[in-house]
Amino acid sequence: MAIKTIKRAKKRECEECVKIGSGWVHLRTCQTCGVTLCCDSSPNRHASKHARAAGHPVVVSAEPGEQWLYCFVDDAFTEY
Ligand SMILES: [Zn+2]
Ligand SMILES: [Zn+2]
Repeated sequence: MAIKTIKRAKKRECEECVKIGSGWVHLRTCQTCGVTLCCDSSPNRHASKHARAAGHPVVVSAEPGEQWLYCFVDDAFTEY
């Protein structure tokens, strides 16, 4: 994992859930393309679907006060 600059959520919402009128639990921001999507505790799990579909393995938590990265490929959390 070579992350130098953390991409932050532009908006505090899941782009995909907003489109379909659904809700989410927590938000994650993709470190490859910067999209913000919902976590695996959410009904639609958009962040992990995006990671697999797009091949973008690393997200950060978009929750206030949380400072960690997660890699779907390695199943590894890293604090920063
Ligand atoms: Zn979502
Ligand atoms: Zn992405």
